[in-house]
Amino acid sequence: MRISRFLLATLKENPADAEVISHQLMLRAGMIRRLAAGLYTWLPLGLRVLRKVENIVRDEMNKSGAQEILMPAVQPAELWQQSGRWDQYGPELLRFKDRHDREFCYGPTHEEIITNLIRNEIRSYKQLPVNLYQIQTKFRDEIRPRFGIMRGREFLMKDSYSFHLEQSSLDETYELMYETYTKIFNRLGLKFRAVLADNGNIGGSRSHEFHVLAESGEDAIAYSTTGDYAANVEVAGDVKVGDPSPDGKSVLDIARGIEVGHIFQLGDKYAKAMGASVLDEAGKSTTLIMGCYGIGVSRLVAATIEQNHDKNGIIWPEAIAPFSVALLPMNMHKSQRLRDAAEDLYNKLQAAGIDVLFDDRKERPGVMFANAELMGIPHRIVIGDRGLDKSEVEYKGRLDEKSQNIPIDKIIEFIVG
Ligand code: ATP
Ligand code: MG
Repeated sequence: MRISRFLLATLKENPADAEVISHQLMLRAGMIRRLAAGLYTWLPLGLRVLRKVENIVRDEMNKSGAQEILMPAVQPAELWQQSGRWDQYGPELLRFKDRHDREFCYGPTHEEIITNLIRNEIRSYKQLPVNLYQIQTKFRDEIRPRFGIMRGREFLMKDSYSFHLEQSSLDETYELMYETYTKIFNRLGLKFRAVLADNGNIGGSRSHEFHVLAESGEDAIAYSTTGDYAANVEVAGDVKVGDPSPDGKSVLDIARGIEVGHIFQLGDKYAKAMGASVLDEAGKSTTLIMGCYGIGVSRLVAATIEQNHDKNGIIWPEAIAPFSVALLPMNMHKSQRLRDAAEDLYNKLQAAGIDVLFDDRKERPGVMFANAELMGIPHRIVIGDRGLDKSEVEYKGRLDEKSQNIPIDKIIEFIVG
């Protein structure tokens, strides 16, 4: 991508209304723009990251054997009345009527819709277990949307739902989702912790949340300093630092976390209320049991920035960087030889399948460096007339203290590693 053709939307000043660093940097780097409270447009730079996160989530979900579907965002009230949640769910549920005066809501989650699908499509125990997921826009009319897309009203979620005849099968899929989430968050390079959690609005019996550890996190997590015990303080109760850990090993410490994933065992709550059953091996009608598994895909983008930034900007992990390489020619407009060499390297980087941002503006070097750092691009290649005399470019990794000279014909190999 040439910067001259790119919707670059970097800001020099720190936006006054952004409280946390990820929100500040997403605005400053030109990743998002606010439309109204909790509603954001993803600009090209931001969307590149969001799509990469989404694809890692999709890849690991597919590897787990789950199948992707896409359900409507708009849901009929009737199904929510069947589950009993139409009256239970508070003002977070955005309700409205269509032209025929029928009631609908914009989905904050999809238990009712999937249970309706399954009760219509699955007839026999032989079709079980099944795990279906989607990556889709949710709406929750949050009382306090804040921190940019971290707590938006509209946000992107991966939600999956599994159906089973037996508890042992649900346990297996729950475990598999736990492992899949661990793989996803590892691929994103996050420091995270799985904790025992409350089932909240969704209901059911057993649940774990996955938290990215960060000072700006809205949740408090109590964890054993040496054992495995970790719980959201919501379920851990009235605990403080130094209390004995419930697992009998060591004492508790408390850290702050950003909830990026949540897995639940729902039992028969929805299947019973909505009549989702199949014939078991003996031909007897049996109510299904269910698990559900969410990941805050858009929230993950902000959570990653909370853990990966410095005074100059974002530091993207390679796996989700909007561009892998920033190619910065120094005063290209003054030298045809330099322009030719830069264009040539740009083409070669692209041919090698590398996402490269080519700064072809007539800009001062300082501005180019600052923009590339703010946007968090992992690799920087500076190409100048002096280096060209020796057939070299100057390379610097986003976290490197110093740059180094690399022969121009070795630079791609060097970056790809
Ligand atoms: P929270 O406690 O943060 O309000 P939740 O427990 O209500 O979240 P879940 O129903 O568990 O959320 O939804 C699954 C995931 O969706 C969450 O783990 C979180 O990562 C993400 N998520 C939930 N609400 C929002 C929001 N308002 N903005 C962005 N992501 C969200
Ligand atoms: Mg949750």
